[in-house]
Amino acid sequence: MASNEGLFGRLSGRTDNRLPESTDPQLHTHAGIQLMLDHQGYVTDIHGLQRYGLARSSGDGAPRLLLSYMVPGSTLALEGVPADWVGHSLDLDFQCAGLRVVHTRGWVQPQGDGWLLQLLDISDLRLGSQQASNRERCTQLTLGLSEQLRRCSTVRLPEVMHEALRSVAQHGRVPCMALAVRDEAQSGWYMHSAYHAFDAPELWTLEQNLGSLLEPFNGPAPQRVERDGNPRLNDLFGNADGVLVPYSDQQGLCAWLMLGFYPASLHGPQMSDSDWLQVCAALAGPLVGRLREQQHLQQSERTEALQGFLGAGWWEWSATSECLQLAPQLAANLTPTADLLPLTLEAWLALFHPADRDELRGRFNELLEHGKALSLFARVHQPQSTQPAQWYRIQGQAQGIGTRRRIVGFMLDVSDIKNQQQQIAAAHARLDNLIASSPAVIYVQRYAEGALLPVFFSDSLKPLLGWTLEECTSTALIEWIHPDDREQYFERTRQLLREGSARSRYRLRDRRGDYHWLLDEAKLLRDDLGLPVEVVGLWLDITEATEAAERVKSSEERYRILVEDSPAMICRYLPDLTLTFGNQPLASYLECTTGQLPGINLSSWLSSEQREAFVQRIEGLTPESPVSSAEISLQLPGREYAWWVWSDRGIFDEQGNLLEVQAVGRDNTELRRSQQQLTHSAKMATLGEMATGLAHEINQPLNVMRMAIVNVLKRLSNGDVQIDYLQDKLTRIDGQVQRAARVVDHLRVFGRRSEIEQKVFNPALALEGTLALLGEGLRGKGVKLRSEGLACDVQVRGHADQLEQVLINLMVNARDALMSKREADRDFEPWIALSIESDAQNVHLRVDDNAGGIDPRLLERIFEPFFTTKPIGLGTGLGLSVSYGIIDNMGGRLSVSNTGHGARFSVELPVVEVQV
Ligand code: ADP
Repeated sequence: MASNEGLFGRLSGRTDNRLPESTDPQLHTHAGIQLMLDHQGYVTDIHGLQRYGLARSSGDGAPRLLLSYMVPGSTLALEGVPADWVGHSLDLDFQCAGLRVVHTRGWVQPQGDGWLLQLLDISDLRLGSQQASNRERCTQLTLGLSEQLRRCSTVRLPEVMHEALRSVAQHGRVPCMALAVRDEAQSGWYMHSAYHAFDAPELWTLEQNLGSLLEPFNGPAPQRVERDGNPRLNDLFGNADGVLVPYSDQQGLCAWLMLGFYPASLHGPQMSDSDWLQVCAALAGPLVGRLREQQHLQQSERTEALQGFLGAGWWEWSATSECLQLAPQLAANLTPTADLLPLTLEAWLALFHPADRDELRGRFNELLEHGKALSLFARVHQPQSTQPAQWYRIQGQAQGIGTRRRIVGFMLDVSDIKNQQQQIAAAHARLDNLIASSPAVIYVQRYAEGALLPVFFSDSLKPLLGWTLEECTSTALIEWIHPDDREQYFERTRQLLREGSARSRYRLRDRRGDYHWLLDEAKLLRDDLGLPVEVVGLWLDITEATEAAERVKSSEERYRILVEDSPAMICRYLPDLTLTFGNQPLASYLECTTGQLPGINLSSWLSSEQREAFVQRIEGLTPESPVSSAEISLQLPGREYAWWVWSDRGIFDEQGNLLEVQAVGRDNTELRRSQQQLTHSAKMATLGEMATGLAHEINQPLNVMRMAIVNVLKRLSNGDVQIDYLQDKLTRIDGQVQRAARVVDHLRVFGRRSEIEQKVFNPALALEGTLALLGEGLRGKGVKLRSEGLACDVQVRGHADQLEQVLINLMVNARDALMSKREADRDFEPWIALSIESDAQNVHLRVDDNAGGIDPRLLERIFEPFFTTKPIGLGTGLGLSVSYGIIDNMGGRLSVSNTGHGARFSVELPVVEVQV
């Protein structure tokens, strides 16, 4: 090697241990070393170009034995004296200055008196073979490591890699060594493995992120890192010399072997660049392969997991076997048993719903024959399943050509999406239908520079308002709004833009010109930047509700006014008689304000008997007959007794429980007080009525008697009075006197005061009395009396004369009605029918006429005092009222009804058991 020659050249200038110089100038130019030896092996002379620099092992004393020049170990080749060495090839190592050794090979031959040892420098050869064996060892080492890296388990890979780096570093005497690999996922570099000799600084750490630091380096050869090079790289190499050895494969540069603290002086003798490339390839090659394999594995695991999650999987059709392969997960989902696999085309198609099967078959055939990509949705056939349909998206395509042609595809479970789509579609349809059939319109108004332009109305617009979308411009809309409501509409728009939502009511004209009350609920939608985009709103037709509410409001108002202004006392109270409301007249009566009324208990004004009766009456109210009336007597502190005519109406809940009572009352005290007098004056009035009848009744007998007396007196003056004649006339006069006496007797009875104690009597007697009093007069007016069989054998309690007065009243009323009818119709034949009937409990006396009856609207009122239809001065309106009172007093009932001919007044009186 050239460097060795240089070494000897440099050493030649040194003065110490100098070899004896030859005197033969020719010998100096010979190659190698020529040593002249005497017979004992002492060096006598030295020649040759390489003689310089040889050093002796011991001092400077001569003569110098050959052995003293040599490296101690190499002397073993020499034994004895030069004569013994003849014919042997001698390999001798000489010590040179600086501990260098020169390897030589030579032989001895006699020369003159001594021996010539001719040596040739074989250092080159030795180095070459050393390097070869070194390389051999290195190759062996790296092959072994490479194999280990290839075979070890994934878990041990980092450990094995580290061990490999250690072996190589020690072999190549490199203090720090690391392997950086490209992170394919993140396209940067990181330190996969690092080794540092125990006395070397820790330059690198595991997993150290190198980023793009190594990017600028490329090329196939190792790169030297020199101290004054790239500062960042120097930093990485601890500002010391180093080497970067690249590894590339078909995917390009993918690893760097980094040698740290590896000075340039060490480069070469042990390991050449190509050795390092080889080492790097042996380590990085399997590592990168394993890492890729790992990545691939993870990738496929991820894909598989993803397919599992998505319910997706591949399928492949083999044209040769005419079978379809499915991804395992997919097959497990679709086919109940694994023995069906691989599937025939028919078996595969049979997995799908008949409704989708033909389309799938058709598409599949198109793919097979024409290579047209397949893509469709199909349901799985689940005949008896109640589960929602399982939908797959099936895609497939042809790949490759000729013999390498494959049909592959995937299936993706899209049940969720499909079922949701169907549900959404159904919900949409329902919603559309609902909107179309409801009194609501959904609208959208687009925002344009502060204005809202109608762009959409739901189909319900036409049925509801008759307008079409085209007609609904913003100007038209404002025009259709009721002039009184336009301000509301503008305010609604302003509020909408200001606050994002608005709710308003206004009237809108429809196509026919009618106004609809609309409830408008609108919301402003904004974009990501918060700028208004459009308004979505709803019109609800509330015409009916609004009008009904207004009606209720005005009727409530009317009702309130009615109650407030009513002269009657109106109140509401709870079942425990606590007032909850009372109107002004009630408050005035009680001398307080309306506000003080609620909370007062009605019972505080009632005597205990009155209260008991009142509560009993209220308890008797039912949802079926919720109304009851009575005359109640009140004791108001510091005041006289008051009589109120009181009418209650119960309000019930759904279960029939009484919630509250509404009552109307009228002060009846005055009326009540005058009742007694009224009864009396009524009697007097009736007496007046009867006067005519009485006069007639008494005049009749008087006339008969007068005529009889005149006739007797005439006979007496003529003197022809016969005793028979006289007897006859006197008997007749007596009859008439009795008749008059009877009438007078009745008059006496009629005049009795009613206070005297009630008596038991036969009601038939009262009928008879009445007929005796009125019968003649009626007949005289042409009224026919039907009164056959008026006998009766039961008794009633009361005053016979009062019952008689009642019957007289009834008959006088009947007569008046008959007379006024006959005034209109001369041919009219009036009649009055009297009857009496009895059962175990009651006796019924009836007065019927044929005067046409009473107007049904007046039926309820005729018993009221002062109610009369007769002309002023003629009727008092007291007859029936008084009669009612009398019958009531007797414990009976006076009622009226219309028959086919006229009115029927019925007197019902309780029968009294007579003790014998
Ligand atoms: P008055 O006879 O003074 O009018 P009443 O109390 O006796 O008072 O009668 C009240 C009213 O009842 C009468 O004005 C009459 O209109 C009606 N009325 C009574 N009896 C009959 C009847 N038999 N037919 C038709 N109307 C009758």
